[in-house]
Amino acid sequence: MNILVLGAGQLARMMSLEAAPLNLNIRAYDVGTKQVVHPLTLQSFEQTLEDAIAFVDVITCEFEHIPDDVLTLCCDSGKFFPGKAAIKAGGDRSIEKALLDKTGVPSAPYKLITEKQHLVDSVSLLGLPLVIKTCQAGYDGKGQWRLKSVEQIDTIWAEMAEFIKAGTEAFPHSIIAEKMIPFDREVSVIGARDKAGNIAIYPVTENQHTNGVLTLSLAAEIDLNVQQQAIDAFNKLSEKMDYVGVLAIEFFDVGGQLMVNEIAPRVHNSGHWTQQGTVCSQFENHMRAVAGLPLGDTQLQKVSAMINVLGQASISKQVLSISDVKSHWYGKAQRIGRKMGHINVSAESNSALANKLLQLADILPEEDYPGVKSTALRLIES
Ligand code: ATP
Ligand code: MG
Repeated sequence: MNILVLGAGQLARMMSLEAAPLNLNIRAYDVGTKQVVHPLTLQSFEQTLEDAIAFVDVITCEFEHIPDDVLTLCCDSGKFFPGKAAIKAGGDRSIEKALLDKTGVPSAPYKLITEKQHLVDSVSLLGLPLVIKTCQAGYDGKGQWRLKSVEQIDTIWAEMAEFIKAGTEAFPHSIIAEKMIPFDREVSVIGARDKAGNIAIYPVTENQHTNGVLTLSLAAEIDLNVQQQAIDAFNKLSEKMDYVGVLAIEFFDVGGQLMVNEIAPRVHNSGHWTQQGTVCSQFENHMRAVAGLPLGDTQLQKVSAMINVLGQASISKQVLSISDVKSHWYGKAQRIGRKMGHINVSAESNSALANKLLQLADILPEEDYPGVKSTALRLIES
């Protein structure tokens, strides 16, 4: 079976690595260069998008900001999964919030903003501070403002107005203001839904962000009540969208109550630990779901952590001397802060994982890899 992935980055690459043993062949479409390429070598197939759509059996994606003409072509072929509704919700916070409201899944209170008065109103409605986010085109904390006092309204509005003005009639731009949630921690859940509606869900993952970017994820024992809330949200949202494939949901945990931050209609950075912490990784399960194969086991086999490699030229070879540590390199050009790769580490128990994280912390400098040591110390206390 041949599968086309929209997007030719690390997620398409990791999908292809898991697809090969299933006898699934992946081609990737780079929306920037408009080339159909091999997801590992990035060599061009010298094929148009239209030809690739006709050639493959199934089409999927590694990101949600898909140009509308490309999405329409793919959806019209009847081969595209997870489906248009999911991509629209993942790529536009106003649609995402409407979906959350409709399904009754709790999320941060918000107000939609298209003019200055809405911003003024949101202060009285939601209080200060406010987290303000562009509805379209944000990722890794980009396209966000924090409004801490009413004195900042004029300055922040000037920047917001510029974003709104850049929209067109066909693709209007909007912004939402969200109540700042005083969360205890951030978690996410990742699961797969197949074409018959079967669902397989991984254990909830705890995520640490630094400057708005994910730096470390931890998959260990999780409170059953928290897991159940995540499962309920996953079931409601994936069923509402008639979703096929892997879906990620990010949450704020406020005193044991989950509140959705956002959804990502794709495999997700916070699920990379599944490459060695479970029998069937998120990449394999996504491939299985879209290809019409039975879903694989999502149970936690080993407690695991994933450490992002941001902006580095390489991963220290020393990390490979620690057992159950694997490095994953994406082969991209180096840029400050860019996701260049990740490191997975697993163990049989929390204390064994803490031990390996301490060894990693000796190799990986705190300024480049924040939170490795503190996570180890926290696991020891737990
Ligand atoms: P990514 O693509 O990395 O997931 P993003 O650009 O889509 O990021 P969000 O996930 O919405 O943006 O926000 C980035 C981070 O900002 C969150 O992980 C969280 O730490 C913080 N944040 C976002 N919204 C709120 C909120 N309402 N209250 C408190 N913190 C928030
Ligand atoms: Mg996010």
